[in-house]
Amino acid sequence: NDNQTALIMIFGATGDLAKRKLFPSLYRLFEKNKLSNKFAVIGVARRPLTNEEFQQSIKDSVKSASENEDRIEEFASHFYYHSHDVTDSDSYATLKNMANELDNSYELNGNRIFYLAMAPEFFGPIALHLKSDGLTDVTGFKRLVIEKPFGHDLESAKELNNQIRTAFSEDEVYRIDHYLGKEMVQNIEVIRFANAIFEPLWNNRFISNIQVTSSETLGVEERGRYYEKSGALRDMVQNHMIQMVALLAMEPPIRLNTEEIRSEKVKVLRALRPVEGEEIHKYFARGQYGEGTINNQSLPAYRQETMVDPNSNTETFVAGKLMIDNFRWAGVPFYIRTGKRMETKSTKIVIQFKDIPMNLYYQTEQQLKPNLLVIHIQPEEGITLHLNAKKAGTGMEATPIKLNYANKGIDGLNTPEAYEKLLYDCMRGDATNFTHWDEVALSWSFTDKISAVWENTKDKSFPNYASGTMGPKAADELLEQDGFFWWPVT
Ligand code: NAD
Repeated sequence: NDNQTALIMIFGATGDLAKRKLFPSLYRLFEKNKLSNKFAVIGVARRPLTNEEFQQSIKDSVKSASENEDRIEEFASHFYYHSHDVTDSDSYATLKNMANELDNSYELNGNRIFYLAMAPEFFGPIALHLKSDGLTDVTGFKRLVIEKPFGHDLESAKELNNQIRTAFSEDEVYRIDHYLGKEMVQNIEVIRFANAIFEPLWNNRFISNIQVTSSETLGVEERGRYYEKSGALRDMVQNHMIQMVALLAMEPPIRLNTEEIRSEKVKVLRALRPVEGEEIHKYFARGQYGEGTINNQSLPAYRQETMVDPNSNTETFVAGKLMIDNFRWAGVPFYIRTGKRMETKSTKIVIQFKDIPMNLYYQTEQQLKPNLLVIHIQPEEGITLHLNAKKAGTGMEATPIKLNYANKGIDGLNTPEAYEKLLYDCMRGDATNFTHWDEVALSWSFTDKISAVWENTKDKSFPNYASGTMGPKAADELLEQDGFFWWPVT
């Protein structure tokens, strides 16, 4: 397959993302013969390294993925290194020559993928240089893969987008949202559109509310400098959380292709009820972790972390209620919550169905439990359906039961990593699981209104949740005011 022939240029090739995710993912594709033998990679970073040293770092980073030393050796031989400060204009000419040579020697048909795995302030300048120094003058395809964050707000995202668009057209831009590469996030679509029993119920007549939780146990680690300016709203809600909501809420696309799916997602974002000013307090709650314990380990408060202001007003937790004002979803809250240093590491979606019209079993010791469909995204992957069934024995007592499907247990093999799938998609030219500019712009304009209030009002309750808990009280109250509660995700 000709499409998989390409020169891949990774900017930031000595960085954490490249080592932990990109090289191992490329290797797994290579090992599965999903990468043609005609490929070459140029790693770009500032540090001076020889090709040999760079290839050694590739071998080290894929060792955990395989024991096949010959294959690893062969894989690493495709990697080349260019030491280059991306802010230094002179160095792009050398990079171009190197690219052209590899293009010839590996017969890459002029196909090029530029992967920006670097700090976001470099995204725009690199894109401009790629154009002005002729690296994007190719006879084959050219694609830009760009990491998050895509801007800091709508204004800066627009500016970045304009810079990128001087060199690449919209359909050549692959904006990574690695949640969209996750197996079970991709499964949302299949569960909805391949089953007769869900889609007819997938609306405000039968669903009472939807809860999306993405909790981490880690704190801010060494990313204090970045996180202080970002916070959970920008880091998680603007992209991953809103993307999951869009996939849950979109209309069935007429076809499963990039344009159709994206345009349905965009319609959801356009129907998202804007929340601004005073109203924010009714729809959103923010939190910041204090001291606490996780797994018997005492942990510091956010404000004690390195590179964090001791009076920081940055939120490490967000809970929100999103309303989608269209026919399908009018009246159904989509609750989201995400945070650091929480009790458990878990990404889960709970779809709570409405109560049956009349409860015949109310005499029994407990109230009937509502039906729930739970989609486990990570770390477990699977689906659980909560039903009520007859309790064994005499009498007519109902008892809750669970139908459980665990992805890993059944398949018996590791599901591919998000980055592996996304890199493969990009090489084949399938942009379905990447975010379109319209989606990015609409989500920023939604979260910007919230940031505007939060940044201008100091939350005096911070820190308002202990490390190792599920967030501040306000997050529970958000649901209590509607008569709901968070279903446990542990
Ligand atoms: P990092 O700091 O570990 O690596 C940065 C890389 O950029 C290094 O290779 C460094 O040498 C290079 N670099 C820095 N300044 C340079 C310059 N002027 N010229 C040339 N090279 C320069 O960063 P990272 O964690 O790998 O993250 C990269 C991007 O990926 C960021 O946008 C980040 O938000 C995103 N991201 C990272 C992760 C992750 O797990 N690390 C996850 C999701 C998204």
